[in-house]
Amino acid sequence: MSTKPLSLPQPPSKPPEFGRDALIVCESLVRIYQSGSVEVQALQGLDLVVESGEMLAVVGASGSGKSTLLSILAGVDAPTAGRVRVDRWNLLTMSRADRVRYRRHTVGFVRQQTAANLIPYLTARQMVDLPMTAAQAPARARRRRTAELLDMLGIGDLAERRPAQMSGGQQMRVAIAVALANEPRVLLADEPTGELDSATSAAVFGTLREVNRRLGVTVVVVTHDPAVSGQVERTVAIRDGRTSSEVLRRAATGSDGDTQVIAEEYAVMDRAGRVQVPRDYREALALTRRVRLVLESDHVAIRPDGGEAG
Ligand code: ADP
Ligand code: MG
Repeated sequence: MSTKPLSLPQPPSKPPEFGRDALIVCESLVRIYQSGSVEVQALQGLDLVVESGEMLAVVGASGSGKSTLLSILAGVDAPTAGRVRVDRWNLLTMSRADRVRYRRHTVGFVRQQTAANLIPYLTARQMVDLPMTAAQAPARARRRRTAELLDMLGIGDLAERRPAQMSGGQQMRVAIAVALANEPRVLLADEPTGELDSATSAAVFGTLREVNRRLGVTVVVVTHDPAVSGQVERTVAIRDGRTSSEVLRRAATGSDGDTQVIAEEYAVMDRAGRVQVPRDYREALALTRRVRLVLESDHVAIRPDGGEAG
């Protein structure tokens, strides 16, 4: 058989950069942990785009790579491969000095263990003051910002208390205030409600929504609780270190004038065109290793491999 030279039409110009106008862009992100002789692929080619001003929930089972993603976005950990940009910062190539600046001013990070965010011998006021002192903000601005934040988070009367004198929900609010002290563009919260009862966690979630709305801070919140997707407009699900599906919620007004919230679930196609077909769909039609893809005029169908017959 002779081989014809490939003459594919060339695109007129370079395609636009993936997520060019977004605040956060992760592309084919890979993070491999080496523990002894064992390699763990915590992220396996994750794509994620977050627009400025968004509040996004990331859900996924334990071990799916959520904390790994958040520590990379926080500038605490570095990916093994891929691309990650936040604001104007390329997190793979930034210098050490820029990384310090980035962590101080661009992102606020609430870590998964509440205690890891707090210093036992400092009061709430002192803890919120600390990042601003590190950033050499003037004393008067620090005092004003601390009071504003504690008030806004509903803990103004706890300013002189230490962590041991607060409830779990109050400690979490202090941790959020500390993360917001230097007016970051992005707030990253890793399971902020993981150690809280359901009423308290709903209240903390409400607080994050308020931070997003009132301060215009872009919020990325990680949780293993799928119920929180009811509280945000967009939820991204991570499976096996990849984004696998998205739920978008929007308010729609029906003909009777009533407003309803409609949630729609989407599969996520990665940059190479891969889509994960949910397990119940695969099982319903016995889709296994090989399937037929059929291009229709307005959709693509996936059919079981029926042998020779089409
Ligand atoms: P999640 O936050 O969704 O529970 P993680 O990001 O913490 O998931 O972990 C993803 C995977 O990477 C898990 O299999 C976990 O065991 C592994 N992992 C996380 N951190 C490390 C580490 N420092 N060393 C080795 N393996 C790790
Ligand atoms: Mg985690």
